[in-house]
Amino acid sequence: MKLLIIEDEQEVQDDLIEFLKGEKFLCEAVSTASIAKEKVYMHDYDAIILDIGLPDGSGLEVLEYLKKINKDTGVIILSARGSIDDKISGLNLGADDYLTKPFDFNELNARIKSIIRRKHFHGSNNIDFGDIVINTDSHEVNVNNQLIILTQKEYQLLLFLISNENRVITKESIVEHLWGDDTDMFDSFDFIYSHIKNLRKKIVNAGGNDYLSTIYGVGYKFQRT
Ligand code: CA
Repeated sequence: MKLLIIEDEQEVQDDLIEFLKGEKFLCEAVSTASIAKEKVYMHDYDAIILDIGLPDGSGLEVLEYLKKINKDTGVIILSARGSIDDKISGLNLGADDYLTKPFDFNELNARIKSIIRRKHFHGSNNIDFGDIVINTDSHEVNVNNQLIILTQKEYQLLLFLISNENRVITKESIVEHLWGDDTDMFDSFDFIYSHIKNLRKKIVNAGGNDYLSTIYGVGYKFQRT
C-alpha cells in the first residue's frame, strides 16, 4: 500500500516516514502544495496524509485539485490545534478524516488502515482473491489455507496486482509503484521479472492457482482463473 505524505516540517515528515515504513507502507513525501499536485496527478496512492499549513499555500488546495482531476484517494488531514475551520473545510472538500497535531502515530496508523479498508476492500481486513487470503493488518498471506512467507516487495507486488485485476500492467508501472522516487536509478525494469517469478512460485508451490499471465512485450495481467 502506497502513501503520499504532504508535510513541510522536516522532522515530522521524517518521523512519519520512519514509522509508516515500519508498518510496511510504501511512502513518498513532499513538502509543498505544488509538488503534491504534480505527484497526485502522475501517480495513484492508496491514501494521502495532508498537512494544512504548507509554505506555498493551503493543503485544502490539494484537496480541491484531487476533486478537479477526479481522484477518489482517501485523505487524512493534519491540522493545527484549534483550527476548526480547516477541519470543516477539509471534510467539506472530501477529506475522509482528520487528526489534530500533535497526534499519536498509532492512531494515525489505525485511521489510514480504516480508510484503505473502506476505499479498497469494502471495510474488510481480509482481501480474498480466489484461493489467496491476505490479512492487511497482520500482513499474513495464506494460499489454500497455507501460510506463505513473502518479502516486503513481494507482498506489495501481490497487493498491486490484485488491485489491478484484469488490467494489463507494465513493468514500468510496477517498478514505479514499488520503488517510487527511486525508479530513476534503474536502467532497465527487467529485474522485476525475478520478483514476479518468486511470487508466482510461492503461490503455485502452496497449491494456489496461477493468476498471472505475461503479455509479451507489454507486461502482466492478474486475473481469476
Ligand atoms: Ca505545516
